[in-house]
Amino acid sequence: MVMELAMLEEKAPVVRNLRNQEEVSWTNPLLTGTKEALEGIELTMEDVKDAEERLQRFAPFISRVFPETRDRDGLIESPLKEIPGMKEKLNSTWGAGLTGKLLLKMDSDLAVAGSIKARGGIYEILKHAEDLALEHGIVKPGENYEKFADPEAKEFFSQYSVHVGSTGNLGLSIGIISAAVGFHVFVHMSQDAKQWKKDLLRSKGVEVIEYAGDYGAAVKKGREEAEKDPYSYFVDDENSVNLFLGYAVAALRLRKQLEECEIKVDDEHPLFVYLPCGVGGAPGGVTFGLKLLYGDNVHIFYEEPVQACCMVLGIATGLHSDICVQDIGLSGKTEADGLAVGRPSKFVGKTVEHLLSGEFTVEDDRLYLYMKALLDQEHIFIEPSSCAAFAGPVRIEKEEACRKYLEEQGLSGKMEKATHIAWATGGSLVPEEVRESYLKKAAEVEDSSDANQLK
Ligand SMILES: *Cc1c(COP(=O)(O)O)cnc(C)c1O
Repeated sequence: MVMELAMLEEKAPVVRNLRNQEEVSWTNPLLTGTKEALEGIELTMEDVKDAEERLQRFAPFISRVFPETRDRDGLIESPLKEIPGMKEKLNSTWGAGLTGKLLLKMDSDLAVAGSIKARGGIYEILKHAEDLALEHGIVKPGENYEKFADPEAKEFFSQYSVHVGSTGNLGLSIGIISAAVGFHVFVHMSQDAKQWKKDLLRSKGVEVIEYAGDYGAAVKKGREEAEKDPYSYFVDDENSVNLFLGYAVAALRLRKQLEECEIKVDDEHPLFVYLPCGVGGAPGGVTFGLKLLYGDNVHIFYEEPVQACCMVLGIATGLHSDICVQDIGLSGKTEADGLAVGRPSKFVGKTVEHLLSGEFTVEDDRLYLYMKALLDQEHIFIEPSSCAAFAGPVRIEKEEACRKYLEEQGLSGKMEKATHIAWATGGSLVPEEVRESYLKKAAEVEDSSDANQLK
């Protein structure tokens, strides 16, 4: 491995920094023009629109079984909010020098699952339910999908089971929607999964199976269990095209919101989007959708924990799922449970490798500081994992590597007209006492002797 590491570092110098547990601000040398990149991807806008239409068909069902979605007519969508107080704080405390607008995409508040997983997870289960229902004549094409909420439909689906491996939030999303459809659902959880997430799932009738190993191990077990039973379906977070397309629909919804806020995205008004990344499906899908819509005018950055930086490792080395963070001596352990993934999705890595502008890795302690800052400044709570979203806005106009990127892209003179979207990926389901423990942790980090280093 020592020899191999030397070769890897020669190919991708960032590997040395990742291995040294540094916070990196990496720009992607594989980035190409969007048009060229999209030509190499089999999925198209047609696929994203198909997914959006499917969610629309299911809206009457969603509205009926999840009353909290009725004000949006059964569409599960989150607010987009400008956060000027947070921008001010990033500038005053962390010297961000951010000049454009800063917005928060609040998937932390998505109905039903309280995280970005509500997009992909719910979509994938609804697609599976639709496939089964059409095949067995439970619904006919064109019929009102409110029918999925009828007792006969639920009884039909109860013959089938769903398995998923998860660090937490995907399990919540898949568990809640599968139970609502009527599936028998098993969530295979890794050791990183938080207790309250297991408790919440069990309270909804979901079978939670716990493993001593990490996320990869939980996925493997889930897949094996599902394979034994012809009536079962495995949600494959590492390779699922359906999850990816469910996430991609976010782009169409975001475009509408930006238009409503009269925020322009064009050659003179660049859009920057910062996405916390785990295995890659959620940020990957959003990336694909946004690139289809905005092409070279949108610049997408991922954010991962220093100890679980699997996506940057996979893309930079070109090894994708053939390498994991433990191979370079990292632990894979992080407080950011939603991002606690050691091996990236090859499907996602290969799909986004020419679309992604770069990546920021971030120390866990910093997540708590961002969490507290957002709460103090904007009275918005999001979970630590999703606070990785601020690593990008803090550094994009500050770090040398980013400034070089802006210059190369011809953006240096346009940053005052730029819009930055920090994607808040989870939070609303976190119980009060867990929030309090996070805030306590934030206060400890602030008081610690290391706090100055985190500035
Ligand atoms: C799952 C998750 C992500 C990242 O999604 P992946 O598809 O695993 O990359 C980000 N934030 C939170 C809170 C999550 O739960």
